[in-house]
Amino acid sequence: MTSAWHRTRRPCCHRNPVHCIVPPYMVEYMARLADPLIRERALVALAHCAAVRAVRAFAQQMPAMMVAPSPSGRRHRLVYDARGKDSLPGKLARSEGESKTSDPAVNEAYDYSGDTFDFYHTIFGRNSLDDAGMSLVSSVHVGEADGRDRYQPMNNAFWDGSQMAYGDGDGVVFEGFTRSLDVVAHELTHGVESFSSNLLYRGQSGALNEHFADVFGVLVRQWRRGESADQASWIVGHEVLVPAPTRRGIRDMEHPGDAYRNDPYLGTDPQPDHMDRIYKGPADSGGVHINSGIPNRVFVIVAKALGGNAWETAGEIWYEAMFQLSRTSQFADLAKITAQIAGDRFDAATKKAVRTGWKKVGL
Ligand SMILES: [Zn+2]
Repeated sequence: MTSAWHRTRRPCCHRNPVHCIVPPYMVEYMARLADPLIRERALVALAHCAAVRAVRAFAQQMPAMMVAPSPSGRRHRLVYDARGKDSLPGKLARSEGESKTSDPAVNEAYDYSGDTFDFYHTIFGRNSLDDAGMSLVSSVHVGEADGRDRYQPMNNAFWDGSQMAYGDGDGVVFEGFTRSLDVVAHELTHGVESFSSNLLYRGQSGALNEHFADVFGVLVRQWRRGESADQASWIVGHEVLVPAPTRRGIRDMEHPGDAYRNDPYLGTDPQPDHMDRIYKGPADSGGVHINSGIPNRVFVIVAKALGGNAWETAGEIWYEAMFQLSRTSQFADLAKITAQIAGDRFDAATKKAVRTGWKKVGL
């Protein structure tokens, strides 16, 4: 018999369209550890996905606030407090124009979603994720239940197609997920992606979906801090990890496979940096968070070769490409389209830099 409970017994990140920042292989690694606290939490995350449960509650009560378009260039942010439960969105904690609260997670979700809105509006003239003034809805302090209605802080952040949700982390491996601007911008870029090429979340097209989220996730941070391509950090999610010498982030765009190494709780980053080592197995929806390392590395090579600010020439080429790709596009399609855009919108030297970047990963 297939009960509702059985249907939810799958890792959230295997389910479209919920996009989690922490990939399933990291959670699965933690579920095999001897440390009872970490293992227990990971097993709960795998068995009773907060994301899937939360989406249901959210869908029942959302329609009114979802469709609240704002005039061009006007931010409309709503931050809710889920108060440790998985029923979204929770209690309204801060809405657009209201002053800071005493809760740092509420303020971070508010400020960083505003930075992401400003980036897309200032650089690309985009009016929110859907280019029609969509409200930016976030829930913080999201928890997940263990099946006996005992809740623990969610060890993840996700975009469910309508809103962001952030957990507070376990305090051993992960900190609160609102702490990183590039994590917030990554999740919101999944929203922009869904309103552009809407790449299928499986195999190479899914890895491109993750790639765009990583690219614009770090570009929002670099733009906000005024960092040029050669000074900037290319690490995704540095601030959401409890500091340790064996881990620097969830992914490293410049050096895929090197974000964490021999970490007692996370193992070693599995991302390949070349087509020769592309992952071909079924895990992680066909390697969506694994193989994104290949195009991620290309973006950094191109941005550094072009010099200056990565969100300018390289960012413009990739933004345009996101709209030219189709739902099932593969890495080779992005290689072709980015070279074409570089030649059409910029010049032969830019086109050559893009081609050289792709050649370095075997495309
Ligand atoms: Zn993602």
